[in-house]
Amino acid sequence: MDLLEYQGKQLFARHGLRVSDGKAVKTVEDAVAAANEIGYPVVIKAQVLIGGRGKAGGVKLASNEAEAREHASNILGMDIKGHVVRTLWIEHASDIASEYYASVLLDRSAKQPLVMFSVEGGVDIEEVAEKTPEKLIRHHVDALGGLSHEEAEDIARKGGADADVIEGVADALVALYEVWLEEDATLAEINPLIVTPEREVRALDAKVSLDGNALYRHPDSQGLSDSENEDPIERRAKEEGVQYVKLDGDIGILGNGAGLVMSTLDVVAQAGGKPANFLDAGGGSDAEKIKQAVDLLLANDAVKAVLFNIFGGITRCDEVAKGLIAAFAEIKPSVPFVVRLDGTNDVEGRRLLQEAALPNVHAAKTMNEAAEMVVALAAGQSVETPV
Ligand code: GDP
Ligand code: MN
Repeated sequence: MDLLEYQGKQLFARHGLRVSDGKAVKTVEDAVAAANEIGYPVVIKAQVLIGGRGKAGGVKLASNEAEAREHASNILGMDIKGHVVRTLWIEHASDIASEYYASVLLDRSAKQPLVMFSVEGGVDIEEVAEKTPEKLIRHHVDALGGLSHEEAEDIARKGGADADVIEGVADALVALYEVWLEEDATLAEINPLIVTPEREVRALDAKVSLDGNALYRHPDSQGLSDSENEDPIERRAKEEGVQYVKLDGDIGILGNGAGLVMSTLDVVAQAGGKPANFLDAGGGSDAEKIKQAVDLLLANDAVKAVLFNIFGGITRCDEVAKGLIAAFAEIKPSVPFVVRLDGTNDVEGRRLLQEAALPNVHAAKTMNEAAEMVVALAAGQSVETPV
């Protein structure tokens, strides 16, 4: 789960990293009021889950109320690489002497946390890594020992930080490491980490990704997801505890188990179709869950046909059939369904479906056959073998 800059900064502050105070707002009027309260000059920053906001015109300095109003109205609603700006962060503008870079992440191949630091911050760090890799210090940390202050000072020194801010940079690195570790972040990045003319070290930007699977350990962070920018159906699925992903085709896909769902996407693609979404009903789905799943799949208007691919293990095919029958009774889908039931209680499941004689529901015996049928149906063609 990616955090907006200001949310990242709030986490930073909790761990003793220096950031500027500011205010998150959603309207021009509130932006102007916040700027007046904070005191000029202020910086007005687009809050979107994408980098390069500065280059895109989403970060502007304002030295008076008129400028604050102008920038706030320009940036609100701006589209930055497909992300529409709905929130602004206003903070007192900092004077900058140097722009450094710092990050902490897990280096999976080394199986160790990795701290990176460079005095070439503010710009594209990928470019620094590529063109002048010697300017990007990479330091692996002993996961059990943690990052000591001496180690952090060493990183700062090796990276070429000014002598009088070695201490300050080390403090920032230790705090950033603590953020990464204690908040269960997968990435904690500051670009730029600035040195002010007063020689204070402060985070001017924040990029934090939290491990969604660890969120249950952080009740404070659970409310931080950028839900207003989330797909409404994905959000509903999340609330209902269902694994649902929106895609851009026209075939709705339901399977049980991540592996089966992925293979179903593959065979549908191979048959020439494009999935509109997919939903993993997981193991042991009962009729109620299946009904809920149908509802979610059909909430997407782009869906022209649905493929149910169930391999019964813990999930019983008769339960799936009952769920489908209940869903049809309630929702009355207007698009065709292809159903492949195999495994536990499949014979019973198919018998239930046959008896129910649901309109526009087609049975398939194999996955490939099911894929071909659903692709044809989505294209408006008719197919043989109704249940
Ligand atoms: P990004 O472009 O999405 O990474 O957004 P940043 O928050 O990193 O801001 C981009 C750039 O704007 C920074 O590298 C700074 O050069 C500049 N900037 C941001 N905040 C301030 C500020 O308070 N004062 C000054 N002088 N420049 C700032
Ligand atoms: Mn930045």
